[in-house]
Amino acid sequence: MRAIAIVLALLANVVWADNYLIHAGTLIDGTGERPQREVSIRIEGNRITAVERGYQSPTDDEQLLDLKDKTVLPGLMDMHTHLSGIISRSFYREQFVMNPPDYAFRSVGYAKDTLMAGFTTVRDLGDFSPGLTTSLRDAINKGWVIGPRVYTAGKSIATTGGHADPTNGRNFALQGDPGPKQGVINGPEDAYKAIRQRYKNGVDVIKLTVTGGVLSLAKSGENPQFTDAELEAIMAAAKDYNFVVAVHAHGAEGMKRAIRAGVDSVEHGTYMDKEAMKLMRKHGTWYVPTITAGKWVAEKAAIDGYYPPVVQPKAAAVGPQIQDTFAKAYRNKIKIAYGTDAGVFPHGLNAREFSYMVEAGMPAMAAIESATLNAAKLLRIDDQLGSVEAGKLADLVAVDGDPLEQIKLLENVTFVMKDGEIYKSEGLE
Ligand SMILES: [Zn+2]
Repeated sequence: MRAIAIVLALLANVVWADNYLIHAGTLIDGTGERPQREVSIRIEGNRITAVERGYQSPTDDEQLLDLKDKTVLPGLMDMHTHLSGIISRSFYREQFVMNPPDYAFRSVGYAKDTLMAGFTTVRDLGDFSPGLTTSLRDAINKGWVIGPRVYTAGKSIATTGGHADPTNGRNFALQGDPGPKQGVINGPEDAYKAIRQRYKNGVDVIKLTVTGGVLSLAKSGENPQFTDAELEAIMAAAKDYNFVVAVHAHGAEGMKRAIRAGVDSVEHGTYMDKEAMKLMRKHGTWYVPTITAGKWVAEKAAIDGYYPPVVQPKAAAVGPQIQDTFAKAYRNKIKIAYGTDAGVFPHGLNAREFSYMVEAGMPAMAAIESATLNAAKLLRIDDQLGSVEAGKLADLVAVDGDPLEQIKLLENVTFVMKDGEIYKSEGLE
């Protein structure tokens, strides 16, 4: 039986898997190297097998894809999404009226919108419905649902009353006493339990909310919310399970404690000061800016009643700061990986961040690199993804024209391939 299964599997690969030869007018390979003109990319199954100069002829088992009038890039990667929801006007009451399957069905469309926007990989940093994104990831991998590769944190970890305490703002009868399982810890013992629980749940990465946040029903948007001892325990436990750790942080004190503890990335980083940047350079910490979310919440905060009263002033104050922080961080040579906080704004608009980064002084090529090879490095998957090179997985996107001249073109991706499969091919026969 086993032998038959192996033969069938081999046949499936040889006979039915599509092999492609792509003629790319321009290739931006994701490594930050200069663009190459007239390139051939060979794809066998889900792998890139060769990147060659000039337009080569297809072999008998290769299908030719003519992308001569396009710029081809690696699949884009967003290091900060929330596929399990959207923080619109109705967000705060949804949790009382929606069931987990409602959240799940809704997220199917979000996953598709994200992939069609050219984002073939996302790191999802915090479930709005327990267990949603691990299941969504698996459903995508099984082919039940169309979406990006998902590396998820599951439920974020907070402290009591902290940014990701799911019962903030509820009346006493509804608050209960959430613990490590629900992502609320107090003390090092709880920290271990929370990490191990997430390992058991099958998450890929860890997310902590180490300072107050904008959209939670709590007063401070920036106070430190983890002790050094808690952070040390988190990092020791995360190391045991080889987790990448991301921290939501606006205020400088909470950020610095996390950087010293050795976290992998700081998200938002709004009130990052000189000392924080020095520490980030010393520890090699990544910065994931999320300018798009900042702009979005600042805009919505101006609409009367859009956010609850406790949220509105935080959104108005924090939102507009993030782009300036990004500009400072870039000038100070902090390592930057692309991330948007999609879910704070509609899924599928993930490419807006590129323009905001370029507007703040980052060259277009560096912005592209932040969403390709740099993002793959942050996730420690740069041996598989992040650039167009022989041996890597076949995740590719293309735009009509030159995104280095016109960065906004990345908001209109016309070709998407993930894992060697074509999901979008506008203008192709
Ligand atoms: Zn977020």
